[in-house]
Parts: sequence; structure tokens; C-alpha cells
Amino acid sequence: MTDLLPISLPTLGLAGCFIDGAWHTPGSTLEVENPCRREVIAEVGRGGAVEIDLAVAAARRALPAWRSLPASQRGALLSELGRRLTEHHEEVARLLAAETGNTIRTQSRGETSGAASVLSYFGGVAVEQKGEVLPFGSDLFSYSTREPIGVVGSIIPWNSPLQLGCGKIAMALSTGNTLVLKPAEDAPLAILRLTELAADLFPPGVFNVVTGVGAGAGAALAAHPNVDKLSFTGSSEVGFGIARNAAERMAHATLELGGKSPCIVFPDAATEDRLDTTAQRIINAMRFARQGQSCTAGSRLFVHEDVWEPVMAKVVEIAEAMVVGDALDERTDMGAIINAKRYDAVRTYIGQAEEAGAEFLTGATPLPVGDAPSFQPVPTILAGVDNDWRINREEVFGPVMVAIPWTNEAEVIAMANDTHYGLAAYIFSHDVDTVMRISRALEAGWIWINEGGGQIPGMSYGGIKQSGMGREYSIEGALEAYTTRKSVTMRLGT
Ligand code: NAD
Repeated sequence: MTDLLPISLPTLGLAGCFIDGAWHTPGSTLEVENPCRREVIAEVGRGGAVEIDLAVAAARRALPAWRSLPASQRGALLSELGRRLTEHHEEVARLLAAETGNTIRTQSRGETSGAASVLSYFGGVAVEQKGEVLPFGSDLFSYSTREPIGVVGSIIPWNSPLQLGCGKIAMALSTGNTLVLKPAEDAPLAILRLTELAADLFPPGVFNVVTGVGAGAGAALAAHPNVDKLSFTGSSEVGFGIARNAAERMAHATLELGGKSPCIVFPDAATEDRLDTTAQRIINAMRFARQGQSCTAGSRLFVHEDVWEPVMAKVVEIAEAMVVGDALDERTDMGAIINAKRYDAVRTYIGQAEEAGAEFLTGATPLPVGDAPSFQPVPTILAGVDNDWRINREEVFGPVMVAIPWTNEAEVIAMANDTHYGLAAYIFSHDVDTVMRISRALEAGWIWINEGGGQIPGMSYGGIKQSGMGREYSIEGALEAYTTRKSVTMRLGT
């Protein structure tokens, strides 16, 4: 353990709640665990309905002045927060690795850079909130403007908390809204450190954070009558409830939910000169380096029968070479599942597939929670599974990929689309007609071709079907999701 990188905890941020420009300590606390070591690393304040009420009221008070501020000035403050995050990059990345179990080298440093870049992107494009002039004739002048929606309540998950949190902050504040952000109970520390960095930046009440559990602070925020817009990223199950909350009071809502993404490999992507690269990108798409805990994980692999053997042999070889270990060890490729409950769920999925006769190309059913020194399954790749098995229909959210051979293009498209999710999809082929035809046919919000990942601010992101509604991460997405249009029509002359 001597080679493990040290972390420094937030100080004021351990209060858990930042409301109206000040730290606020609720009466109870939450324990935050390092899932690679199964040890408590911090206790943070656990907010609930009382803190949500205070935060929403503060956000409402701050709204008139904030929305009146020129967009360029709002943008400058977001750019400054991005700069501060970059300045504290290594410290925040380590905190993120410790609380999420996402490794420092392969994940947490990249997430921290990505989070800073989304703040800088929205800092820059904040001025691009243009309206329209309508051609109604010389005596009738009509134009439209973009108006902030009001108080935004954002709820985020633990799997990439900093990147998602910075996205929500950047989109809500650049468009003139004020914000109450509820981090995930399993991983609030990097967000609380970021909040420390932001504490003197925004006017009081513009940016508020309430840490707490889903059924407490989360539910209170979702149901609060003074929250005008909900922006939720998390599971589809919770997302349904958030959508109901929004519908009950006609609040706006953006939902970024789960996924079960297909990855289709054509023979021309597995020629001798392309095999290694394609196999590595399949591994990247599956997000083994994040223990499969990604909404866009390409967890359903469809490989053309003609290249099944070389592709699967290479994919298995790369998966088996991954070093599973402590997230704060530079040598580690893959860290831990976030908590005992999720680890047990992943274990159950694998165990059920094993009982049903799945073939393990690599991997194993993980140890029971009581015996596991850390929540670390190895990369697991299963074959001999039908497309309609539970493990191939539900989001496992663990390092488990199911591989199925195919021969007929119509059949593989039907299998790929036979899911209630529609977040991402991956196609491996270098034939332009093939990739155009398949990308038109696949039902997903984001399609990668010959690539296994990478998200750049500026590209609209979001899913279809039960993967959610609305688009985020781009200025167009933010304008649609975080502003309303106001039309003004004026009779000219008499
Ligand atoms: P989750 O839905 O359990 O929790 C997400 C957040 O919602 C947490 O902050 C939690 O405290 C809160 N929450 C839970 N119950 C709530 C309730 N009743 N009312 C209000 N808030 C509540 O999800 P998770 O396990 O933290 O994250 C994993 C899920 O998130 C996966 O399904 C994954 O696919 C999804 N996800 C989606 C995206 C995307 O962009 N589409 C990105 C990351 C993660």
C-alpha cells in the first residue's frame, strides 16, 4: 500500500451544504467510503428537506440579479471556475479516485480535465444566446429572446460526479438560471471541493449545494414547488419518478438515464492490420476501465461470425491483461464497484447467467460481499447468451460484456434495437455505405464509428426511449433545456 497516492479532504466542504454563499452543517452526517479499500474516508453533512427549502429560497432571491447580469459576465465566472479546477487538478482527481473507485491514471485525471473543459466551454459560449427576428412585414416587428427558466434543481449520480456536476453548473448558470445541486451520496467529495473553489465566485444564492440521500434531499428537491426546472442524471427507475414530479407541477425536465448499448463489428474492421485497434476500442467502449459503470457502456457486443474467433481472442487477451487494483495506484487499469449494494447486484447478474449456462470467455462470478476485500470483480465476457436473457436486457452497470455472433445484417440490427434503452451505439466498419446505413437504422442518441469513447463539450448529448429526454452538453442543448423563448410583437406606425 506504500505506493498509493495520498488524498487531501475538503475542509469547509465537509459541512455538506453550501447555501446562500455560506457553509451550513445539517444535524446528521453521511459516511463516504473508498470502495477499493472498503474503508470510510470522510463524514459529510447530510442535508434533507430543511436544507433544500433554504437553498431553493436562496436561489429564488438570487435569480433577478443573476439573470440580469450580461451573459459575458456570467461566462467569465464559469471560465474562472474552470481555471481554478485546472489549478487544483491533481488534488481533485485523487479525491475523485478515492471516493468513486475510478482509477487515477485511466479515469479520474481525465474526468477532472473534462470537467474543467466543460466549464470553460460554457464560459465562452455563454454569449451565444441569440434570439430571432420574424419577417412579418414592414409595419409589424416581431422578435424572440431566450429567457432563463428560473430555479434549477439538478441531481447527479456517483459514476462521473465531477464531469456531470460541472456540466449542470455550467449549463444552468450560463443561461441565467440559479441552481441547487444535489450530489450523489456515494461520491460528494470532489463536488464539495469544487464548491470550496467556487465559494467566493458567484453572488450568494446563485450556486447552492445540498448533499444528502436520494429519498431525503433528492426527493425534496424533485418535489419542491419552487423549483422551475429539474435536470436529472441517474437510473431510469428514479428518472420515471422525477418525470412524474415535474409533470405534477408542469416544471421543465431533462432526464439523462441508463443505457444498454450495442456494439456491432463487421468483418472489414477485423483484418490483420486493424484487429488490435478494433479490439482495444471494443474494450474502451465497454468501459472496463470504469468497471463498466458507464451509461454509454457498449455491453452488448455483436461480432460477425466470419471474424468471431480472432476478434474474441484479442478482446479477451486485452481484458485479461488489465490490472485490477487500487484506484490510487498508478499501475491500476481498473478499480472498484461503488458500493456493496451495487457489487452484490453485479454479482447476482453474473451468477444467474452462470446458472443459466453462459460460457465465460473470461472472468468469474465475484466473491460474496462478506468475503470480498474490495468491490472488485474482474472483466467478465460471456458467450452462449441469447439476446433476451436478463443479463443482456438490463443495465448491469458492472464489468460484464455479452458477446453474440451474427451473420445477417437485418437480424443484427433487430437485436441491437431490441432494447428499451437508446443512449449510445458503436459500429466497427470502414465501409462508408455500411456505416451510414447502420447508423441510420440504429435507435440511439449517440453513435460512435470505429471509436470507443470520448465526450467533447459542444456535442449535444442524450438518449431516446427510456434513456431519457432532452439534450445537454452543447450550447444548443442548453438553450433548449435551460431557457424558454419569449416572443415580442410590436405594431409599427399608427
Ligand atoms: P440513481 O438513479 O440511483 O441515483 C442518481 C441520483 O439520484 C443520486 O444523487 C441519488 O441520490 C438520487 N436519487 C435517488 N433516488 C431518488 C429519489 N427518489 N428522488 C430524487 N433523487 C433520487 O443512479 P446511480 O446509481 O447513482 O447512477 C447510475 C445510473 O445513472 C445508471 O443507470 C446510469 O446509466 C445513469 N447515468 C446516466 C448518464 C447519462 O448521461 N445518461 C450518466 C451517468 C449515469
